[in-house]
Amino acid sequence: MPETPASDRLFPLFADLRGRTVVVVGGGAVAARKVEALLGTGARIVVGAPTLDPALAILAAAGELEHLPAEFTPAWLDQAWLAIAATDDAGVNRAVAEAGEARRVWVNVVDDTALTRMHLPARVERGPLQIAISSGGGAPMLARLVREQLETRFDESFGALATLLTRHRDRIRARWPDTVARRRAFERLLAGPLQGLLRSRRHIEAERAFDLALAEEGEATAARGRVALVGAGPGDPGLLTLRALRLLNEADVILHDSLASEDVLQLARRDALRIAVGKRAGHHATPQADINALMIRHAAAGLRVVRLKGGDPFVFGRGGEELEALRAAGIDYEVVPGITAAAACAAYAGIPLTHRDHAQSVRLVTAHARESGETLDWPALAQERQTLAFYMGVARLETVRTQLLAHGRAPETPFALIENGSRPEQRVVAGTLADLPRLARLHDVQAPALLIVGEVAALAGALHWFGAPPLGDAAPLAHAA
Ligand code: SAH
Repeated sequence: MPETPASDRLFPLFADLRGRTVVVVGGGAVAARKVEALLGTGARIVVGAPTLDPALAILAAAGELEHLPAEFTPAWLDQAWLAIAATDDAGVNRAVAEAGEARRVWVNVVDDTALTRMHLPARVERGPLQIAISSGGGAPMLARLVREQLETRFDESFGALATLLTRHRDRIRARWPDTVARRRAFERLLAGPLQGLLRSRRHIEAERAFDLALAEEGEATAARGRVALVGAGPGDPGLLTLRALRLLNEADVILHDSLASEDVLQLARRDALRIAVGKRAGHHATPQADINALMIRHAAAGLRVVRLKGGDPFVFGRGGEELEALRAAGIDYEVVPGITAAAACAAYAGIPLTHRDHAQSVRLVTAHARESGETLDWPALAQERQTLAFYMGVARLETVRTQLLAHGRAPETPFALIENGSRPEQRVVAGTLADLPRLARLHDVQAPALLIVGEVAALAGALHWFGAPPLGDAAPLAHAA
């Protein structure tokens, strides 16, 4: 038999082995492990080896397997559907592989990916729900690691859930003949109390919750679309909430800002319709009225819409206006908070927003003229012992400086300007208020950038941990280097 490297594209399948013969060649500890994996599948297990190790001998005595007490001969595979070569003799293992090949029997050769044509995956078993992991035999340790992680991710309730759903399969199909409606009903079912009840082993109540769900969910509600106003955080996908992730996975339509990062969008359902409604270089933003109309139209058509916004939807995100429009149109909605730029940029620049010694309050301020309508309370903003976080400020740094100084803030007040906070390209420029516009120009700071003004900003130099240290009066690093 020709030895070829393991295929990098194995076809996974789950086999019903009831009543079928599986031959395991070898009687040692490795063979015993394979036999153990086969127990409970209903396969007729035949172990061929001159002698059996004690564990296998016990199983043989108990009638769990048949023992062929002899050296391997190809005829053993005549009745087999599958075979496993688990001897420590490479010649015997090869003979098993060749005998299998001649008879079209799938053979697994332990620890020999070149001879193996059938891999036994690492498994996570939760009742009828089985997860199989393979690295193609090339990296079994990695497969094992993934298995361990899945073991913690999927607790026993998934087995109970799979059992319950299997038992009621026909009822479920009759109740929701349409696959789209069924999928949604499932999602609602899983969002409900059912799994929690199974997890706490309250099976009777779980059964009742299931009956109720089947009775209650009418086709009308099943077809009902909704909008989730979701905060995408500042850009690092690790800062997304679990709920945001779940909604992105379920979305039919995603309306996203330019601030919702590509890395975050990567996590969304592949076949979701994506509509960019934010400003992109050279393009105008979609007017708010059009965004509202888009959300309403898609939700009214029964689709699940995610309105994905950078940071938090309720911080300078016009989220309130969007909800008002949805409410007026009678569309269901939910809001998922996100990590707002002030929190994210501060964290990723090593700047605590409050500090027992320096700042007892934080203000989130928009520096955008149109957003603030020039109604900012500069005397209040210029007060000490507070931290100011200015959003949308890149074009208005001169005004911020002039106004704060004019209203009494000291010229030595530290600032930090964080561009692309939490993203791989993050840059921090730090200095004192008097120098703010000049330093921003020197380093050519671009939107999106968040400005932090206050004593705490000085800590960026000492506490930074992400990306490069803050840039100051020196020329930009790239030029200096
Ligand atoms: N809803 C958003 C803010 C939208 S206003 C939130 O909660 O964060 C847009 C402004 O947010 C930008 O002009 C910038 O000041 C700030 N911003 C958003 N993401 C940012 C990021 N990754 N880095 C720096 N500033 C950011």
